[in-house]
Parts: sequence; C-alpha cells; structure tokens
Amino acid sequence: MKVTVLAGGVGGARFLLGVRALLGPTPFPPPLSESGDPVDAPGNHDITAIVNVGDDVRMHGMRICPDLDTCMYTLGGGIDSGRGWGRSDETWNAKEELAAYGADPDWFGLGDRDLATHLIRTQMLDAGYRLSDVTAALCRRWQPGVRLLPATDNRCETHVKIAKPGGSQDEYVAIHFEEWWVRHRAQIPAHGFVQIGADRATAAPGVLEAIAEADIVLLAPSNPVVSVGAILAVPGIRGALRTTAAPVVGVSPVIDNKPLRGMADECLTAIGVATSAEAIAAHYGPRSGNGILDGWLIADGDAVDTAVVDGITVGTAPLLMTDPATTARMVADACALVGVNTPAADGHDL
Ligand code: GDP
Ligand code: CA
Repeated sequence: MKVTVLAGGVGGARFLLGVRALLGPTPFPPPLSESGDPVDAPGNHDITAIVNVGDDVRMHGMRICPDLDTCMYTLGGGIDSGRGWGRSDETWNAKEELAAYGADPDWFGLGDRDLATHLIRTQMLDAGYRLSDVTAALCRRWQPGVRLLPATDNRCETHVKIAKPGGSQDEYVAIHFEEWWVRHRAQIPAHGFVQIGADRATAAPGVLEAIAEADIVLLAPSNPVVSVGAILAVPGIRGALRTTAAPVVGVSPVIDNKPLRGMADECLTAIGVATSAEAIAAHYGPRSGNGILDGWLIADGDAVDTAVVDGITVGTAPLLMTDPATTARMVADACALVGVNTPAADGHDL
C-alpha cells in the first residue's frame, strides 16, 4: 500500500509516527545494491511524507529547515519531545556565544546538537546538492522509516505581511514567518502570507509521482495555512491532488474550535478562516468542486454543517495524538472513511 502524507512540523511528525506504527517502516534512504542502485524492499508498505519548507530560513550563514528537522528527529528518536522541536539532551552554548557577540538574530532556538545538522546541510547545499538529496543523506543517520521529501528543492519561503512600524494605515512590510512566529509569538496582527519564490519553484523529485501513484493521500493535522497551505503553494502540487486517482483525506488540527498546541488560530484569522473543523474543511474544499478533499476526519464531539462541506465525506474519531498506537488508529479511521482498508482495519494488532 502506498500512502502519501502532506506534513508540517510537530503535527505532521506525530501523525507520521502513527502512519509508521500502522504500516511498518519504509526504509529511507533505500538500501543500495553493490552497484549503487536503490533496492526495493519487497513486502513493505510505502510511506512518503511531503514536508513543508515554507519555514526554511538562513541564519548565521546556515540553512535551517524547521519542519524537515522536526519530522526527521521525531521519527528518528532524536527529538526533544517536551518542546516538540530540536534535539533531545540539547545544550545552548553556541547560541549564548553568538548573543555575546551581539550577533543577530538572537531569538532563534539554535541548539549545539542541532547545529551539526544545519552545518552539514549547508555544506552539502553549497556543494551543489539538492535539498531532497541532502535530506536523504541526513536520514541515513536517523532512519526515519518514512520517505521524507521536501515539497520543493527551491526557495519557497513564507513571509508575513504586517503593518509597517510607524507607517500610515495602508503601509505594510513583510517579515520572515519564523521572525513573526518565534520572535513575536504571532502577536503582531498578520494581514496575509506571501510565498517568496513560489512563482519559480517546482515540486521536488518524486513529489508529484508520490501523489499520483498513491493509494491514499492524507493531509496531516498540520497548520492549514503555513504548513499545508505553503506546500500547496508549490506549483503543481494542488493540481496533482486534484487529478490523482487516490482519495484525499484530511485530519482536522482543530478540536472544539481550538488548535491543539501552537498558534494556528492566528494564521487562520489572518486569511479570514474561522478556527473550526468546519471552516477549515470549507477552506480546503471538495475535490468534486475546486478543492482538494474527498474526506475530512473531525474530532468526536465536533460537528460540521454538511451543507457547508458538500462533497466531502465527514467522519468522527478521537483525534488526540497521544502516542503512536492511538495515532495509528486515527490514521486507520481516516483511510476507512473513503473505503481504504489498512492492516488495522484487517484486525492487525496495534
Ligand atoms: P508546526 O510546523 O510545528 O507548527 O506543526 P504542524 O503545522 O505540522 O502542526 C501544527 C498543528 O498540529 C497545530 O495547528 C495543532 O492544532 C495540530 N496538532 C498538534 N497536536 C495535535 C493532536 O494531537 N491532534 C490533532 N488533531 N492536531 C494536533
Ligand atoms: Ca512549521
């Protein structure tokens, strides 16, 4: 079975833990034969994650990919699970030393262990490797058990439109998403989001194929605006979702009109979408219309007006991703919603 997941950081990574618990690991990067060709592991299910790179940023000369790293560390067992990002057993000496020099920016959480990932990635990119190749190389260490593909190898960065400080009412400036999110805790009103470079970006190798050839495409309960929305901004990806023969099912990141952690509501408000499972489903829209969803899984106790989400099959399930086994049942429920049988539905013990 081939499952393709659109994923951001924390919500995406936890969802992928559930997909992997359900179907078993996909070797990534694939093992190589003696002649250096990738070897297919027969009998394995195939899990591909298309990961948001809208949060990517260059700082202190390094390329940082927050969502790819969160997915890689979470699946590879190296995440600080309390924080949900960065490495476990982290120290912050380099960050303190940079601050002592007065080096900007000083608000970004740059851990000493994490630094090694950024340094290797930057060296490889500067040597001419594509981000997708670099990601596979880093995953040789972490063995995430999921094929992790950046949505694009090109720059396609999310910037936030805010009022120009000291400017008149209709004057705006754009700041990098990470500056808005981490430095300002999303507390400066956003007037919209811009994907810098989207016009020239193309999907990374394997991304469109993973959507076209999937048995099911799942939208993780990631931020609909700056995670899933930023992936959809890469030219070709929305079109691939609309034309794939596979059903497309999303899982709500909002339970009881509240995001689970983080500040997704600030992003939804900025684009005029209410923080509710119903409004997010209507925002994604049905594939039978101009949208991307066949199915939408909402939390037990939540409800949607079927007239508002006409064309989308809605189901309910427990949506708290407390551990991989619980999340695996949620993934099985998402698949069952559109008639796709998974090992769990076949009585496989989780
Ligand atoms: P980020 O890139 O680290 O912000 O992470 P994502 O975009 O992948 O995911 C953030 C979203 O995950 C938030 O909007 C949360 O509401 C959602 N989320 C986090 N934990 C859970 C959970 O246990 N269940 C559900 N349904 N959503 C969750
Ligand atoms: Ca993110």
